[in-house]
Amino acid sequence: MALAKTVPKVEEYGLFIDGKWESPGGASRFTTRNPATGEVLGSFVSATAKEVDRAVSAAAKAFPKWRETPAPKRGQLLLRVAEIYRERKDELGETVTMEMGKILPEGKGDVQEAIDFIEYMSGEGRRLLGETVPSELRNKYCMTVRQPKGVVAAITPWNFPTAIPNWKIAAALISGNTVVFKPASNTSLCGTKVVKAYEDAGLPPGVLNLVTGAGGIVGDALIRDPRVKAVSFTGGTDTGKQVYLKGAEHLKYVHLELGGKNPQIVLNDANLDLALDGVLFGAFGSSGQRCTATSRLIIQEGVYDRFLGMLLDRLKSFKVGNPVDRGVDMGPVASADQEKKVLTYIDVGQKEGAKLRAGGKKLTGGDYDKGYFVAPTVLEAKHGMRVTKEEIFGPVLSVMKVKDFEEAVRVANDVDYGLSSSIYTKDVNLSFQAMERLEAGITYINAPTIGAEVQLPFGGIKQTGNGGREAGTTAIDEFTEIKTVFVDFSNKLQKAQIEG
Ligand code: NAP
Repeated sequence: MALAKTVPKVEEYGLFIDGKWESPGGASRFTTRNPATGEVLGSFVSATAKEVDRAVSAAAKAFPKWRETPAPKRGQLLLRVAEIYRERKDELGETVTMEMGKILPEGKGDVQEAIDFIEYMSGEGRRLLGETVPSELRNKYCMTVRQPKGVVAAITPWNFPTAIPNWKIAAALISGNTVVFKPASNTSLCGTKVVKAYEDAGLPPGVLNLVTGAGGIVGDALIRDPRVKAVSFTGGTDTGKQVYLKGAEHLKYVHLELGGKNPQIVLNDANLDLALDGVLFGAFGSSGQRCTATSRLIIQEGVYDRFLGMLLDRLKSFKVGNPVDRGVDMGPVASADQEKKVLTYIDVGQKEGAKLRAGGKKLTGGDYDKGYFVAPTVLEAKHGMRVTKEEIFGPVLSVMKVKDFEEAVRVANDVDYGLSSSIYTKDVNLSFQAMERLEAGITYINAPTIGAEVQLPFGGIKQTGNGGREAGTTAIDEFTEIKTVFVDFSNKLQKAQIEG
């Protein structure tokens, strides 16, 4: 991303290393801006490999003591963080909205998701389950215990700037790891506020460290540092592949949560009003900038014209504006880069022969000129066009007609990604078949492609990730090593598998 130059009188924020906020002398800085108004929100340190080195040192130094802190005590501390977020929910939600442009209820929802997950993880401090199984031998116990990995790097995107960092930080901390967190540059103010709550809750120095700055510098240095034992990364598929390769040089554990191209299928027997609410929320919520956003609408031919008509009709009264204002349905996209990418894809789609049915342009005039507003866009497309296969990550919905359920599943699955999927039908058999056959980590029946709940695993297959899952009890798997323990209390040498 382009890093803007510092402007005078903007609040300056530091790095958080070893329990102290600091601004290294002579460090260059960058600013973040409100994508709806252009207002500068804060100035942040462009850290270098030197600061990363110090942050990793602090985390490594804090690790032995944090690891020895009983997990239920770590959980109590997390509960305090959740309380602080609750007290600050309005302010934090507004910061999310101002820094990345989702409407205020969604900004607050982002914070609520962080609260929910931290509370859930604090309870995990009283479980951290291993297993106990019978031995083939007498007077012998066989079991597993979980151990922390060590220093963890958390590298996060801008689209859920409080929820996603906390999905990683809270799960890593409850498991006994220490963390160096690098937020997306675009949402460094959110990242700073995420960490401040942990400081205010009394987290010991070094257990959580914040390093702001460019991914190619800060992220890169973190991944290459041999003291960092695990990397938890959420972002684009291309970046994720680079992260994976670099991590492989050190045989590091790398968990990747990447892009999506999520379909909503609407069959002839669907409740169309429900499906309409679903697709509007799924495709245009957060301006389509969710990894689980609905970017493909696959409609069975019997209801195609009617359902498309209903969608286009509803979009006529869909309000795009400043996301802090009440009654606005959709805010801007998050940055100039995002706007450019989205407009380019709209152009590509039309050049490939997709028919523009709504939107398709940058909104201009009045307050729109201050920000990055793109009209909610509907393209009637044919499966195989780039707009039906590649992640756009914006308010662009590609609509396709299919003959039957079989074709719907075939089209839905014929993409490189596999994060979320949805089907609207009243047919129980087809619902379960969809559940079985849709190639995605998540399937919703009669609900949109978005709507994760923290107590369930979250993640995808194919190019969406490398097999791990965040949230749910699986969140702990990402941040713990399993140790197998045998306790032989027979007082003699016993040999498994060997007779005599
Ligand atoms: P991105 O450009 O890949 O950036 C993600 C993070 O990686 C940012 O912190 C970025 O820092 C950092 N980064 C960039 N280059 C790096 C490098 N060479 N080495 C290490 N770190 C590097 O993605 P984004 O635009 O922020 O987010 C959008 C993408 O995230 C979409 O593809 C979306 O689908 C995906 N996403 C996936 C999930 C999921 O759970 N599957 C959830 C949310 C979003 P800078 O900001 O400084 O560039």
